[in-house]
Amino acid sequence: MLIETHAHLDYPDFAGDFDDVLERATAAGVTRIVTIGTSVESSRRAIEIAEKYPNVYAVIGVHPTYAGEAEEDVTTPLRELAQNPRVVAIGETGLDYHRLPSVEAAKGKKVQVFSRALQGETEEEIEAQIHDGSYKSKQASLFEQQLDLAVQLGLNVVIHQRDAWDDTLEIMRPYTDKLRGVFHCYGGTLEQANEVLGLDHLVSFTGIVTFKNGATVRDVAAQIPLWKFMVETDCPYLAPVPFRGKRCEPAYTRIVAETIAAARGISLEEIAESTTETAEQFFRFNRG
Ligand SMILES: [Zn+2]
Repeated sequence: MLIETHAHLDYPDFAGDFDDVLERATAAGVTRIVTIGTSVESSRRAIEIAEKYPNVYAVIGVHPTYAGEAEEDVTTPLRELAQNPRVVAIGETGLDYHRLPSVEAAKGKKVQVFSRALQGETEEEIEAQIHDGSYKSKQASLFEQQLDLAVQLGLNVVIHQRDAWDDTLEIMRPYTDKLRGVFHCYGGTLEQANEVLGLDHLVSFTGIVTFKNGATVRDVAAQIPLWKFMVETDCPYLAPVPFRGKRCEPAYTRIVAETIAAARGISLEEIAESTTETAEQFFRFNRG
């Protein structure tokens, strides 16, 4: 009835009670789960899980925050893994400027951001900016490789974007009409949502819609067209209220869907029907 479109089932958080986690999902009406790779190794594990459990499907990719450790060429291993018919999309990939080397360096030294303006740039800060540049270009290269691969394979792409909105759209521009992306864990404005929906991409919502400080996202979920979004948990992260702060799991997709249904003033069944159909069009569930 509901499709959990973004879980990280290969993470060690689920090792202790994996079968219970899947059972609770089924009991909550979450009949299919898409598990998302974040590195080549994680993607390999995602496929193993999807081969073992018929209601689990894999998305394979390299997450931008793993850019540092990732090989220069991720196309070759991902292309090989994508031969597996349990693979239903490419990702998660994209850009994440939230933890740039300069920001981390500043945190490490407890340098306050405003002090830069007062003191001018230190040698360390200049160094950090050079690192920022190479970190960003590595992310961009990995992102483009995965977009190219998706086009070659005729698959869609799960997009991770954080603090890098303009650059993300810029990189995706040449791929318009060649593939569709889902901006997962959507946290932007209604305007930004309309911008990507206008390019035939999708968004998906997590437990953030249940947060007290999630009013903006909740409004977006209430206002965009019913057929333009999917639901997810991003588990083990972002457990919805009343589980906020605890380990999240796919069963909570239902809470996300219920919250959006309430915000739109429609039934859970209607949300389940639309998000399931949207997910069925987006992911290649029947590749085999
Ligand atoms: Zn994720």
